[in-house]
Amino acid sequence: MKLYNQTIHKLHTMLKSGETTSTAITESVFSRIDEVDGKVHSYLTLTRDQAMEAAGKADDRYRKGDPLGALDGIPVGVKDIFLTEGVRTTAGSKILDNFVAPYDGTAISLLRQAGAVITGKLNMDEFAMGSSTENSGFFPTCNPWDLSKVPGGSSGGSAAAVAAGEAVCALGTDTGGSIRQPASHCGVVGLKPTYGRVSRYGVIAFASSLDQVGPLTRDVTDCAVLLGTIAGHDPADSTSADLPVPDYPSLLTGDVEGMTVGLPEEYFGQGIEPGVEELVRRAASALEARGARLVPVSLPSTKYAVATYYIIAPAEASSNLARYDGVRFGVRAADTEGLIEMYRRTRSQGFGPEVKRRIMLGTFALSAGYYDAYYGKAQRVRTMIRREMDEAFAKADILLSPTAPTPAFPLEDKIDDPLQMYLSDICTIPVNIAGCAALSVPCGITKDGLPVGAHLISPAFKEDLLLNVAYAYEQERGPLTECPL
Ligand code: GLN
Repeated sequence: MKLYNQTIHKLHTMLKSGETTSTAITESVFSRIDEVDGKVHSYLTLTRDQAMEAAGKADDRYRKGDPLGALDGIPVGVKDIFLTEGVRTTAGSKILDNFVAPYDGTAISLLRQAGAVITGKLNMDEFAMGSSTENSGFFPTCNPWDLSKVPGGSSGGSAAAVAAGEAVCALGTDTGGSIRQPASHCGVVGLKPTYGRVSRYGVIAFASSLDQVGPLTRDVTDCAVLLGTIAGHDPADSTSADLPVPDYPSLLTGDVEGMTVGLPEEYFGQGIEPGVEELVRRAASALEARGARLVPVSLPSTKYAVATYYIIAPAEASSNLARYDGVRFGVRAADTEGLIEMYRRTRSQGFGPEVKRRIMLGTFALSAGYYDAYYGKAQRVRTMIRREMDEAFAKADILLSPTAPTPAFPLEDKIDDPLQMYLSDICTIPVNIAGCAALSVPCGITKDGLPVGAHLISPAFKEDLLLNVAYAYEQERGPLTECPL
């Protein structure tokens, strides 16, 4: 049996019965990395020694019959946006090439407290800006299903690693779709929790009112396990919600009898590739077969969502990225004369083209005289989008749409056309704008052999419902074809 390819829950059962050890699982994952990462390029940094040490400690706990929980001894990869004490943390940017994090972010501390074995830091678009991982300041990641295609982004390294068996599960972040779209392109489950459900402390900020941390996993049960581990109130993040965390895995009953599933008309048809639409409609029928009722709903402001996002996200990013000045963090340009020249050269050399584009956009949108016309207006549209989402939830318990309009596209296909790249997130962005929760669950393979994800959206703090509907669908769908790599 290939240990690196198993789910968290399967491995946990095997660990408890003594059928395997965390050391064996972790070795299996690292030999898989040695075998395929030269082709996939998921990792920016490996933490092999620390991982083997953590695995040994997990084995001691299992031997004593006292494991910490379902994640104890399980190899987890983390996007390189999470601060990890003593480990290089770049956010995919040259400007942080040499930055070693001085402490663990909260999600990382919670993983460690649960006994998880951290395998390393996963590639991403620079500062999470992108939909293909081609904006990484280091190298692009390839899609394990077809190495000539992108894995999606910005958490492309996380999705590709899970799909390729280079981690049992992974953490990503999602500002406009960065967990769900790569999950869809790589055939894994990816969940963006409600804004505030998971602490952002120790996560390098992109757009603070939209960013959320979430899991990428092989199946829905694993997703419930990982979310349960990282969710919860954190005094170190004032935007984290002070609400109890349900025991997500125990709530997976698969019962959706009598539930209403809304199909937003704006998310089907125009702009959605027919092969994708067909698979998502089949997912809707599968839920219907389980006793759910399908109802049409409308989100008319969907057409403004991408434009709204590209005002709000760059505005917040331009402010968050002001801190990279060559003084406090990371790389400083050499041989400069005077402070201003040092700032200018450090930022010119350190940031890539997409990040510079966003800083300029954001700075412009926030500048005196334009603030009301752009940022103020975008905030008003944001409220409108949120209200429409609430109205849809008055008619349906949950919404279903495609995660992305197309399957994974070829590397270099959209890199020179930012607007086309931005449209990859047309179905996912409204969820971040509204602040609710959503996940992508694999719903089939196109005739070209590429995975497609179905996107389920729930009201805020209804992750239990979201996971249960996805679980019901997964039961009805049955096992999927395995990644051919
Ligand atoms: N692709 C979107 C962007 O480039 C979303 C990224 C994200 O969710 N971090 O901003």
